Amino acid sequence: MRRKVEQQPEKFPDYLGEDGKLYRHIPHRAGNEEVASWKMCVPIGQRQRVMTENHDMPTAGHLGSRKTIARIAARYHWPGMHRDIRKYVRNCESCMKYKPSQLQAAGKMLTQVPEKPWATVCTDFVGPCHDRSMEFNAAGPGG
Ligand SMILES: [Zn+2]
Repeated sequence: MRRKVEQQPEKFPDYLGEDGKLYRHIPHRAGNEEVASWKMCVPIGQRQRVMTENHDMPTAGHLGSRKTIARIAARYHWPGMHRDIRKYVRNCESCMKYKPSQLQAAGKMLTQVPEKPWATVCTDFVGPCHDRSMEFNAAGPGG
């Protein structure tokens, strides 16, 4: 791929071969942040290393998958990187040992949004059926 880009750059306007590395132009939405729009394309064999550097290193500090993705996506690109990074973070042994709460939160999003769903449901009940709304609410949550 890299050789093709270097030989026929006009055929790959979104790619840039430089210093033996391949870069891809990624249009980004994040306003004026310091996000490089040319991301380094990471060959399969080096993705693990990039993820290690941006998750396991002391400077990375074992961030959650979302932050790790943001961190890596700011500089690198490869197809399916979000999925790979999420998987990597999920399987990180240090994270499993020291941050069990984070693992649980991923599977139980509901615990983070208490009350609100019921508030919506209750208002919906009140509308159409005036007479029964009281009974419904009485027999509702916790009843
Ligand atoms: Zn970790």
